[in-house]
Parts: sequence; C-alpha cells; structure tokens
Amino acid sequence: MRRMAKPTYVTNVTVFDGNRLRKRQGVLFGTEGIEWIGPHPRPPKAAREAREVEGDGKTLMPGLIDVHVHLQFDGDADFEKEARDLTTPGFAALKAMVNAKRNLDAGVTTVRDLGGMGGASIDVARAVAAGLVPGPRILAAGRALTVSGGHGHSIAFSREVDGPDAVRAAVREEIRAGATAIKLIATGGVLTPGIPATFSAFTADELEAGIREAHERNLSVAAHAIGANGIRAAVLAGVDSIEHCNQLTAATAREMVTRGTFRSPTICAVRGILDHADRVADYAVEKARSIEADSKKSLRTAVRSGVRPVCGTDAGTPFNAHGNAAQEVVYMTEWGMPPLDALRAATSNGAELLRLEDVGTIEVGKRADLVLVDGDPVEDPRALLGRRRVWRAGDPV
Ligand SMILES: [Zn+2]
Repeated sequence: MRRMAKPTYVTNVTVFDGNRLRKRQGVLFGTEGIEWIGPHPRPPKAAREAREVEGDGKTLMPGLIDVHVHLQFDGDADFEKEARDLTTPGFAALKAMVNAKRNLDAGVTTVRDLGGMGGASIDVARAVAAGLVPGPRILAAGRALTVSGGHGHSIAFSREVDGPDAVRAAVREEIRAGATAIKLIATGGVLTPGIPATFSAFTADELEAGIREAHERNLSVAAHAIGANGIRAAVLAGVDSIEHCNQLTAATAREMVTRGTFRSPTICAVRGILDHADRVADYAVEKARSIEADSKKSLRTAVRSGVRPVCGTDAGTPFNAHGNAAQEVVYMTEWGMPPLDALRAATSNGAELLRLEDVGTIEVGKRADLVLVDGDPVEDPRALLGRRRVWRAGDPV
C-alpha cells in the first residue's frame, strides 16, 4: 500500500495542534510526516508541488486517539451473547478488522484494544502495521487480567489470575504473545451478571506486580476501576490510566494529579446502556443507573482538581459503536469539561499515555495522522461529528 504520493498542503486553516488553537495557518505534509507549519500567506516553496486543500472555515487537528476499545465487539444489545458467539480467534480477528476500519473512517487513527480473545486483536494490529489491511494504529492488551470470578471472567476477553506471582506471569505471557498494553480489572463491572460493579478485586501486591512487569517493557497499564477503593488502590500501585473511574474522591484525584495518572471516563459506555435501557439486559441497566450520578460528579471532581483526561469510549459495549471517539469528546464537554481539555484528551494526552512520540500533536517531523473538520471544535465540539477528511500517515483515507 505504501507509495510515494504527492504531499498535501492545507491552506488558510485553523489548527488545533494537540495543545492550542492557531488561526490562519498553512500545513504541508506527506507520507514522510508533517513537513511545515506556519502563517498561511507565506507557504514554503515545496507547497507548490503539493495537492492543495482549502482550509478556510475548517479546523485541522491530530487524528483522534481512543485509548479504550474492544475491536472484537460490535456493540450488540446483548453483550453476553456477542461474547458467546466469539468462538474462534479467526472470527474474532475478522470482526476486529472491520471495526478497526470503522475507527479509521471516523478519524480515529490510533486505538488501544483493552481486551479480546487471545491474540486476535494483536494479529490485526500486526496486519495493519504491515499494510495488509487498512486501519488505525492498534495497541492491543491481548486478554485482560481479572481475579477468579471477577469482572469479565465468564467471557473470552479476560483470563483469571490470583496472587502476585500469577499476575506477574500472566503479564509476561501476554507480552510474549505480542501485547503492547496491559489491562488489569481492578474492581467489579457493569456487564458481568451476578457480581457488583464497585467491589475491589486485585490486592495492592497483585497490582504492583503486574504494573512493574509492564513498565519494565515500556507498556502502558490500564486499570478498569469503578469503585472508590479500587480506583485508589490502582492509582497508588502506579497504573497509567483509570478506565471508567466512576467513584473518584477528591483525595484520590489529588493523588492522580501528583502521579500523572490519566482518567478515561468512558461516557459512551454508560450512555449506550442507559439510552437503550429497554433493549439491554436488566442487570446491566441497574448497575449503570446506580453509578450514573457518581460518574458525572467524578468528572467534575477530576476537572476541578486538574486530573488529565484521555478519550476512551469502551467501544464494543452495548450501543457503543466503533468510531465513537468524537462522540466521547462531546459527552465530556456536556458533563462539564472545557472543550480544549476534551480535545487534548483525544490527541496529545492519549499519545502521552500510550507512550507514542510520533502522534497526538501537529508538529514538524510528526506522523501525518490528521483530521480536517468543518467549523471550530473549541467553539462547538459537535463540529467533530460533522463532515470530515482523514489522513493516515499522510495518505487520504
Ligand atoms: Zn472496556
């Protein structure tokens, strides 16, 4: 698929560079990366050879980064049935491939897959990297780690491990299988029947053992954590992101700021269930309802304290389609996050969390993963939901 295409020059465009907004810019980029950015009336010579794209009235921004997806799940109403139907890694990989493309088409150029059957998402990540199939860059956690009988234990997207030694071994095994991120399920969960959503699962020793192994290999660690105690334990053990983070106390928020722990509120997952309560299993609706108010309060606590957000949709959960990252940005602002922070969450913060140095900002030398939207998403984040053009590594999608 790699070919030497003409570079692209976007003229007279507003740029959200991953951190701030700049008006009336020109940006030159190609398959080798971003080559130039500056005031649009003074383009570089090389821009003359480029394919020109009019940027007036539009905003160019880094490709979106969704740090929490499940590529093997489509977002069916019946999550358990969809999980049961994932009977072979081959079928799981095909579903992951289709959902990877859905993300890319929506302007999501990097995703972190936080749990699926065996190596299926890892294989799709490899196929995309090799140029065999189109898709965003994929970091994949392989199987999530959960305690015996913990959240997700009954489906193929996780493995049960108990004790620090077993956690350590499981992290090593997932890395050996090709995992490029690690997921620890630190509390109960909404989509597993018969267990509460908020109890604490792994002990401090178990969390620390897993985190140490992943960090030795420079991989990000995500902790699924809903209840206040489990969130605090995961933060103190040193995870890089708290997923869901529904019951955040002010004290733990301060701890997250000190340690640089990112918060991934996954509002799309809560909304997907509550907005379709008549079609989702009762146990899931009840648990989602019980944490809705806490979730909103936690987001406000995080904003007030200065906890840095990332954008994670949990795509693949009921009525939560792939490519939902823009919707998550909109939800974050609706719940009280300043738009600029929500945009940083989905770009520069996501790249920092995932330890990717070549994406997440628009700077010379960075990879040209870019999205062009109508309007100004800082003024109105819903601009992200409208018409868009996407480039992946300089190639139009
Ligand atoms: Zn998830």
